[in-house]
Amino acid sequence: MPTFEHYQQLKTANALPGHDGVGACLTCKYWQVEAYRDESIVPKVALCIHPMLAPFALIVTGASACNKWAEKPDKEPEAAAYAERYEEDKGVQREKARLAGPPPGGKES
Ligand code: SF4
Repeated sequence: MPTFEHYQQLKTANALPGHDGVGACLTCKYWQVEAYRDESIVPKVALCIHPMLAPFALIVTGASACNKWAEKPDKEPEAAAYAERYEEDKGVQREKARLAGPPPGGKES
C-alpha cells in the first residue's frame, strides 16, 4: 500500500469503512491537546480519548484520522483548512481512477 503525505489522499484512494466519517485528529474533539491548533502542531503526538478507543491507548498525531472523528466545537480555522486540503484535489481523483483501472470495455484516458 502506498503512503501519502496527507490523510485526505489515503482516504480518497481507498474504500475505507465509514469513509464519509473519516476526519483528522487535528480537528477532532477527542484529540487530547490543549495547544492552539494550527498546522505547526500536526506532527505532535497526543492520546485519543474517544470513549470507544481510549482502551487501546491510541497515540496519534494531528495528521492521523479515523471514522470515530467528532468535530471540535471551536475548531480553529487553520486546522479546518489543513483538514480540507486535498479534499477536491484532482490529482488524487486521477490516482484513484488509475488504481481502480480502466472502465469496463473502455480505454484509460
Ligand atoms: S483517532 Fe479518531 S476519535 Fe481519536 S482523536 Fe483521532 S479522529 Fe478523533
